[in-house]
Amino acid sequence: MTNNPTPRVLVIGAGIAGMQASLDIANAGFEVVLVEKLPSVGGRMAQLSETFPTLDCAQCILTPRTVEVGHHERIRLYTYSEVEAVTGDIGDFHVRIRRRAAYVNWDICTGCGVCQEKCPSRVPSEFERGMGRRKSIFTLSPQAVPNKPVLDPAHCIYFQRGKCKACQRFCPVGAINYEQQDSVFEERVGAIILATGYDLYSLENMPEYGGGKVPDVIDSLAFERLLSASGPTAGKVKRPSDGKTPHEIVFIQCAGSREPERHKPYCSKICCMYTAKQAVLYRHRVHEGQTYIFYIDIRAAGKRYEEFTQRAMEDDRAIYLRGKVSRVFRRGDKVMVWGADTLTNKQVQIAADMVVVAPALVPRPTTRRLAEMLSLPTDQHGWLLPLDSNTHPVETVRKGVFLAGTGTGPMDIPETVAHASGAAAQVLKLFSRWRREGSEQ
Ligand SMILES: Cc1cc2nc3c(=O)[nH]c(=O)nc-3n(C[C@H](O)[C@H](O)[C@H](O)COP(=O)(O)OP(=O)(O)OC[C@H]3O[C@@H](n4cnc5c(N)ncnc54)[C@H](O)[C@@H]3O)c2cc1C
Repeated sequence: MTNNPTPRVLVIGAGIAGMQASLDIANAGFEVVLVEKLPSVGGRMAQLSETFPTLDCAQCILTPRTVEVGHHERIRLYTYSEVEAVTGDIGDFHVRIRRRAAYVNWDICTGCGVCQEKCPSRVPSEFERGMGRRKSIFTLSPQAVPNKPVLDPAHCIYFQRGKCKACQRFCPVGAINYEQQDSVFEERVGAIILATGYDLYSLENMPEYGGGKVPDVIDSLAFERLLSASGPTAGKVKRPSDGKTPHEIVFIQCAGSREPERHKPYCSKICCMYTAKQAVLYRHRVHEGQTYIFYIDIRAAGKRYEEFTQRAMEDDRAIYLRGKVSRVFRRGDKVMVWGADTLTNKQVQIAADMVVVAPALVPRPTTRRLAEMLSLPTDQHGWLLPLDSNTHPVETVRKGVFLAGTGTGPMDIPETVAHASGAAAQVLKLFSRWRREGSEQ
């Protein structure tokens, strides 16, 4: 290790885990370089409506943190950026970061939103999981931090057909720059935290649940967007095919989880709780609505979690059916769900208005690439492996490199935050040792 280590940390991923770790370290007086692939911070939590078991508004918990991260004097934030290379060792890592061209000069952009208003091109929004549309120049959400747009050349009329330039014509400060190139930055840090989060296993991998081809069969994050006050339907539950209010919804838990033969063998841990939450929230919006929840077991091991699932059953009249769904298909304007109730040993057939699937959690594809770059092991599913899951859950085989949040496996928000604070504490332990040793020399 170098004799003169740098007490500065690189955090990769600005979901709730990366933000928590960054704020813990920055508020203890050390510098943080925070790199986020998307145009703004917040990760998956920014897509959630309310959180179990308290039904607090996710955005209300998140916004003070995103704002603090965006303005913190000791956090250097690179959004729309990825780490391209890391060399060096604990105390002295050299990091190359590439920021993608946004075609907007963020130094002068005021975030007024006129470019988005005037852009004539509309495409399905990834953030809204296809439930809503965005413009070709866009921010992920109205609460985006930083509140600066990026231009998507694959859908921009000017980039595709050579004319339009509405965003440039109407931008009051001249911030649009169609010639902008990617920028490359070099940073030196003494430690690294990986907080790269999770994805959902794609519906396309599961033909038994319609394979992503049956209208009105959506995944659980898409349903969060329908429930969200800031979502495409302003929190009104409307089915995607015709905008009608669904009166019967079937929820399918363990879709792709606990299925070693066909899909993933592990339990995704959070689906029992968020499905109960979604059933409760749906009933708050559609009072006469009926929900059916297919489950294998109910795993509600957390403080007030069991009581919450009881509430879904008793107060909000969710009908829980223990068993697996064998087939989901369209008949007329209904979605047919065939399954087995293993408690009564009967076949079940439900003609639903909509189906919400809770797919397995999987690591993001870029996590494996980062692991290779840093010579870190992953398990057979691609989750990052700690040094020892019992005694060293945030350390890795590589000294100076730590893990935070769901890049290591499924976790809910409280566990993610605790894990991230654990990683931050390990980094702070290292930095204070370096400071002490430096002052003794
Ligand atoms: C439908 C649904 C509902 C849920 N509801 C609840 C709930 O009510 N209560 C609860 O406690 N939990 C809930 N959860 C779980 C919650 O979403 C997670 O616990 C939490 O969001 C995990 O945060 P994270 O920071 O680990 O990951 P993420 O939110 O995934 O953040 C990771 C970040 O890293 C970035 N990133 C990834 N790779 C790179 C890279 N190579 N370079 C730079 N950046 C990168 C990503 O863009 C992302 O911003 C729910 C989950 C789902 C699917």
